Amino acid sequence: MKPELITPDTRCLSLEEAFRYSHGQSSATERSRVETHITTCDLCFESLAGARKMSNLQEARTRTEALHRSLRDSLQPQKKATRVLHWPALALSAAAAILIVFTGVFLANRHPNRDLAYENFEPFPNTVPITRGSASLLEDAMAYYELGEYEESAAKLESYMKNEPSDDRAKIYSAVCRIALKTPEKAIPVLTSFTPQNLFFQDSRWYLTLAYLATDQEEKANQIINSGVFGGTIYEGRIDRIKKRKNP
Ligand SMILES: [Zn+2]
Repeated sequence: MKPELITPDTRCLSLEEAFRYSHGQSSATERSRVETHITTCDLCFESLAGARKMSNLQEARTRTEALHRSLRDSLQPQKKATRVLHWPALALSAAAAILIVFTGVFLANRHPNRDLAYENFEPFPNTVPITRGSASLLEDAMAYYELGEYEESAAKLESYMKNEPSDDRAKIYSAVCRIALKTPEKAIPVLTSFTPQNLFFQDSRWYLTLAYLATDQEEKANQIINSGVFGGTIYEGRIDRIKKRKNP
Protein backbone atom coordinates (compact mmCIF):
# COMPACT_ATOMS: atom_id res chain seq x y z
CA MET A 1 0.00 0.00 0.00
CA LYS A 2 1.25 3.43 -0.86
CA PRO A 3 1.77 5.72 2.11
CA GLU A 4 -0.21 8.92 1.90
CA LEU A 5 1.76 12.03 1.23
CA ILE A 6 1.57 14.21 4.26
CA THR A 7 2.43 17.36 2.37
CA PRO A 8 0.72 18.93 -0.62
CA ASP A 9 2.27 18.37 -4.02
CA THR A 10 4.68 21.26 -4.50
CA ARG A 11 6.91 19.74 -7.14
CA CYS A 12 8.12 22.10 -9.82
CA LEU A 13 6.46 21.77 -13.20
CA SER A 14 7.74 19.33 -15.77
CA LEU A 15 8.28 20.40 -19.33
CA GLU A 16 5.14 18.53 -20.31
CA GLU A 17 3.01 20.17 -17.63
CA ALA A 18 4.28 23.63 -18.53
CA PHE A 19 3.63 22.99 -22.20
CA ARG A 20 0.11 21.62 -21.70
CA TYR A 21 -0.83 24.40 -19.31
CA SER A 22 0.41 27.21 -21.49
CA HIS A 23 -1.32 25.71 -24.51
CA GLY A 24 -4.64 25.22 -22.73
CA GLN A 25 -4.35 21.42 -22.81
CA SER A 26 -4.24 20.60 -19.08
CA SER A 27 -6.89 18.55 -17.35
CA ALA A 28 -8.79 20.30 -14.57
CA THR A 29 -6.69 18.49 -11.93
CA GLU A 30 -3.44 19.43 -13.60
CA ARG A 31 -4.57 23.02 -14.07
CA SER A 32 -5.32 23.37 -10.40
CA ARG A 33 -1.97 21.83 -9.41
CA VAL A 34 -0.12 24.20 -11.72
CA GLU A 35 -2.02 27.22 -10.45
CA THR A 36 -1.37 26.29 -6.83
CA HIS A 37 2.30 25.73 -7.51
CA ILE A 38 2.95 29.01 -9.34
CA THR A 39 1.60 31.05 -6.43
CA THR A 40 4.72 30.04 -4.51
CA CYS A 41 7.29 29.41 -7.25
CA ASP A 42 8.51 32.41 -9.23
CA LEU A 43 10.63 30.27 -11.46
CA CYS A 44 7.74 28.13 -12.70
CA PHE A 45 5.49 31.18 -12.94
CA GLU A 46 7.95 32.93 -15.21
CA SER A 47 8.69 29.80 -17.19
CA LEU A 48 5.08 29.61 -18.36
CA ALA A 49 5.66 32.64 -20.55
CA GLY A 50 8.57 30.76 -22.13
CA ALA A 51 6.50 27.60 -22.48
CA ARG A 52 3.97 29.55 -24.53
CA LYS A 53 6.71 30.12 -27.11
CA MET A 54 7.30 26.41 -27.61
CA SER A 55 5.81 25.39 -30.91
CA ASN A 56 5.75 21.71 -30.06
CA LEU A 57 6.70 19.44 -27.23
CA GLN A 58 9.20 17.36 -29.23
CA GLU A 59 11.21 20.41 -30.16
CA ALA A 60 11.12 21.58 -26.54
CA ARG A 61 12.43 18.20 -25.35
CA THR A 62 15.22 18.16 -27.90
CA ARG A 63 16.38 21.65 -27.06
CA THR A 64 16.28 21.24 -23.28
CA GLU A 65 18.05 17.89 -23.52
CA ALA A 66 20.82 19.52 -25.53
CA LEU A 67 21.13 22.13 -22.81
CA HIS A 68 21.39 19.47 -20.11
CA ARG A 69 24.00 17.61 -22.13
CA SER A 70 26.18 20.66 -22.52
CA LEU A 71 25.84 21.46 -18.81
CA ARG A 72 26.80 17.91 -17.92
CA ASP A 73 29.83 18.01 -20.19
CA SER A 74 31.03 21.27 -18.74
CA LEU A 75 30.79 19.86 -15.21
CA GLN A 76 32.39 16.50 -15.86
CA PRO A 77 35.87 17.28 -14.46
CA GLN A 78 34.38 18.41 -11.17
CA LYS A 79 32.55 15.12 -10.83
CA LYS A 80 35.75 13.08 -11.02
CA ALA A 81 37.34 15.11 -8.26
CA THR A 82 34.69 14.24 -5.67
CA ARG A 83 33.87 10.97 -4.01
CA VAL A 84 30.24 11.06 -4.97
CA LEU A 85 28.14 8.02 -5.58
CA HIS A 86 25.43 9.73 -7.56
CA TRP A 87 25.46 12.45 -10.11
CA PRO A 88 24.50 15.52 -8.12
CA ALA A 89 20.88 16.55 -8.47
CA LEU A 90 22.17 19.47 -10.37
CA ALA A 91 20.02 18.94 -13.39
CA LEU A 92 18.12 22.07 -14.09
CA SER A 93 14.47 22.10 -13.24
CA ALA A 94 12.25 22.11 -16.31
CA ALA A 95 11.31 25.69 -15.49
CA ALA A 96 14.93 26.82 -15.51
CA ALA A 97 15.59 25.02 -18.78
CA ILE A 98 12.51 26.55 -20.37
CA LEU A 99 13.61 30.03 -19.36
CA ILE A 100 17.08 29.57 -20.73
CA VAL A 101 16.06 27.93 -23.99
CA PHE A 102 12.91 29.84 -24.84
CA THR A 103 13.43 33.28 -23.39
CA GLY A 104 17.20 33.56 -23.42
CA VAL A 105 17.12 34.52 -19.75
CA PHE A 106 20.08 33.09 -17.96
CA LEU A 107 19.50 32.37 -14.33
CA ALA A 108 22.95 32.81 -12.88
CA ASN A 109 22.31 36.33 -11.68
CA ARG A 110 18.68 35.95 -10.78
CA HIS A 111 18.94 33.69 -7.77
CA PRO A 112 22.67 33.55 -7.07
CA ASN A 113 22.30 31.97 -3.63
CA ARG A 114 19.94 29.27 -4.85
CA ASP A 115 22.23 28.51 -7.78
CA LEU A 116 25.21 28.33 -5.46
CA ALA A 117 23.36 25.89 -3.20
CA TYR A 118 22.38 23.56 -6.02
CA GLU A 119 25.79 23.70 -7.66
CA ASN A 120 27.23 22.33 -4.44
CA PHE A 121 24.47 19.94 -3.53
CA GLU A 122 24.92 16.23 -3.78
CA PRO A 123 22.95 13.57 -1.93
CA PHE A 124 24.45 12.23 1.29
CA PRO A 125 25.78 8.70 0.70
CA ASN A 126 23.60 5.89 1.96
CA THR A 127 24.94 4.51 5.25
CA VAL A 128 21.99 2.32 6.16
CA PRO A 129 22.95 -1.33 5.78
CA ILE A 130 20.46 -3.51 3.97
CA THR A 131 19.43 -6.63 5.82
CA ARG A 132 17.93 -8.95 3.29
CA GLY A 133 14.63 -10.59 4.06
CA SER A 134 13.31 -8.28 6.73
CA ALA A 135 13.03 -4.94 5.04
CA SER A 136 11.96 -2.20 7.41
CA LEU A 137 10.29 1.02 6.41
CA LEU A 138 13.66 2.74 6.77
CA GLU A 139 15.36 0.28 4.44
CA ASP A 140 12.50 0.59 2.02
CA ALA A 141 12.91 4.36 2.06
CA MET A 142 16.64 4.00 1.46
CA ALA A 143 16.07 1.75 -1.53
CA TYR A 144 14.09 4.57 -3.15
CA TYR A 145 16.79 7.00 -2.06
CA GLU A 146 19.44 4.95 -3.83
CA LEU A 147 17.37 5.12 -7.00
CA GLY A 148 17.07 8.89 -6.74
CA GLU A 149 13.29 8.56 -6.14
CA TYR A 150 13.27 11.27 -3.53
CA GLU A 151 9.53 11.85 -3.44
CA GLU A 152 8.85 8.21 -2.48
CA SER A 153 11.82 8.11 -0.16
CA ALA A 154 10.81 11.29 1.68
CA ALA A 155 7.24 10.03 2.14
CA LYS A 156 8.48 6.76 3.62
CA LEU A 157 11.07 8.44 5.82
CA GLU A 158 8.53 10.88 7.15
CA SER A 159 6.09 8.15 8.01
CA TYR A 160 8.93 6.20 9.69
CA MET A 161 9.76 9.32 11.71
CA LYS A 162 6.26 9.45 13.15
CA ASN A 163 7.31 6.49 15.33
CA GLU A 164 11.02 7.28 15.46
CA PRO A 165 11.16 11.06 15.63
CA SER A 166 14.75 11.16 16.83
CA ASP A 167 16.32 8.72 14.39
CA ASP A 168 19.22 10.78 13.04
CA ARG A 169 19.53 8.71 9.88
CA ALA A 170 15.90 9.19 8.90
CA LYS A 171 16.21 12.88 9.72
CA ILE A 172 19.26 13.57 7.59
CA TYR A 173 18.00 11.58 4.60
CA SER A 174 14.55 13.12 4.68
CA ALA A 175 16.14 16.58 4.72
CA VAL A 176 18.40 15.68 1.78
CA CYS A 177 15.33 14.43 -0.13
CA ARG A 178 13.54 17.71 0.49
CA ILE A 179 16.51 19.70 -0.80
CA ALA A 180 16.79 17.42 -3.84
CA LEU A 181 13.07 17.95 -4.50
CA LYS A 182 13.68 21.70 -4.59
CA THR A 183 11.66 22.30 -1.44
CA PRO A 184 14.59 23.25 0.80
CA GLU A 185 12.30 25.18 3.17
CA LYS A 186 10.95 21.80 4.33
CA ALA A 187 14.44 20.59 5.21
CA ILE A 188 15.20 23.47 7.54
CA PRO A 189 13.14 22.48 10.62
CA VAL A 190 14.57 18.95 10.54
CA LEU A 191 18.14 20.13 10.11
CA THR A 192 18.00 22.78 12.83
CA SER A 193 16.94 20.08 15.32
CA PHE A 194 20.39 18.42 15.21
CA THR A 195 22.72 19.13 18.14
CA PRO A 196 26.48 18.44 18.43
CA GLN A 197 25.67 15.20 20.29
CA ASN A 198 23.78 13.81 17.30
CA LEU A 199 25.12 11.48 14.68
CA PHE A 200 25.62 13.42 11.42
CA PHE A 201 25.79 16.78 13.18
CA GLN A 202 28.38 18.23 10.81
CA ASP A 203 26.54 16.78 7.83
CA SER A 204 23.35 18.41 9.07
CA ARG A 205 25.16 21.77 9.27
CA TRP A 206 26.36 21.37 5.70
CA TYR A 207 22.89 20.65 4.36
CA LEU A 208 21.44 23.42 6.52
CA THR A 209 23.92 25.83 4.93
CA LEU A 210 22.70 24.73 1.50
CA ALA A 211 19.05 24.96 2.53
CA TYR A 212 19.57 28.50 3.83
CA LEU A 213 21.33 29.49 0.63
CA ALA A 214 18.64 27.85 -1.47
CA THR A 215 15.98 29.87 0.36
CA ASP A 216 18.05 33.04 0.11
CA GLN A 217 18.75 33.30 3.83
CA GLU A 218 22.32 34.31 3.23
CA GLU A 219 22.95 35.74 6.71
CA LYS A 220 22.09 32.43 8.40
CA ALA A 221 24.18 30.48 5.90
CA ASN A 222 27.15 32.74 6.59
CA GLN A 223 26.79 32.23 10.33
CA ILE A 224 27.24 28.49 9.91
CA ILE A 225 30.01 28.88 7.36
CA ASN A 226 31.93 31.15 9.73
CA SER A 227 31.28 29.04 12.84
CA GLY A 228 34.24 26.75 12.17
CA VAL A 229 32.06 23.65 12.40
CA PHE A 230 33.45 22.25 9.14
CA GLY A 231 37.13 22.29 10.16
CA GLY A 232 38.77 18.96 9.32
CA THR A 233 35.65 17.54 7.67
CA ILE A 234 35.04 16.53 4.07
CA TYR A 235 33.06 19.77 3.73
CA GLU A 236 36.06 22.08 4.07
CA GLY A 237 36.85 22.16 0.36
CA ARG A 238 33.25 22.78 -0.60
CA ILE A 239 32.97 25.61 1.93
CA ASP A 240 36.10 27.20 0.44
CA ARG A 241 34.52 26.92 -2.99
CA ILE A 242 31.38 28.65 -1.75
CA LYS A 243 33.38 31.40 -0.04
CA LYS A 244 35.37 32.02 -3.22
CA ARG A 245 32.18 32.28 -5.26
CA LYS A 246 30.72 34.76 -2.81
CA ASN A 247 33.86 36.94 -2.69
CA PRO A 248 35.88 36.27 -5.82
ZN1 LIG B 1 8.43 25.49 -9.42
